[in-house]
Amino acid sequence: MTEKNTPSLEELYRSILENIGEDPEREGLLKTPSRVASSMKFLTRGYHQNLTKILNGAIFEESDSNMILLRDIEFYSMCEHHMLPFFGKCHVAYIPNGKIVGVSKIARIVDMFARRLQVQERMTGEIAGAIEEALNPKGVGVVAEGTHLCMVMRGVEKQHSKMTTSAMRGEFLKAPTRMEMMSLIRNGG
Ligand code: ZN
Repeated sequence: MTEKNTPSLEELYRSILENIGEDPEREGLLKTPSRVASSMKFLTRGYHQNLTKILNGAIFEESDSNMILLRDIEFYSMCEHHMLPFFGKCHVAYIPNGKIVGVSKIARIVDMFARRLQVQERMTGEIAGAIEEALNPKGVGVVAEGTHLCMVMRGVEKQHSKMTTSAMRGEFLKAPTRMEMMSLIRNGG
C-alpha cells in the first residue's frame, strides 16, 4: 500500500481474478497477480524511457545523404481501447542531413513507443517524430504493419487482417522517395 492507500497492481489483479469468477487462492493462481503485475510493468516500460537517454550520444557525423532503411523491426504493443496486444513489423527510413544514428537505437526508439498503451496510427507518427527530433534529417518515413488481437480474438471475423499505417515527413512526402522506400522494403535493402 502507498500513502494514499492505492492498491498495488498485484492487489488489483487479485481483485480482477475474483471478479471474473476465479479463486485467487487456488494453487495455479497464487503467484499469478504478482507475475501479471511485473509483466504489465515490462509491457508498459516505454512510459519511463526518453529519447535523450536512449540515444546516449550515439549520433554520428555523416556527409552521405542516401536513404537509410531499417526494415522488419519487430514491435509488441497494446491497444489502448482493449489493452490487448497488437504486434508486427515496423520499417524506418530516413535521409541524413549530416547526422546518422546507431542502428540499434532506431529499434530502441520503436520499442519506447510500442511499450505503452497505443493506437498504431499514433505510434507510427511518434516514431517518425522522434527520428526527426534526434537527427533533423531531410526526411523520415515510418511504415508499420500490425496484427491486432482485439480484432482477432474477439470474433470480429477479421482473423487474418493486418493494419498498415505510415508517417511520412520531409522528402518522404514526395512520391519518388516514398516509392524508393517501398521498393526497398519489398526487395530488401
Ligand atoms: Zn483494441
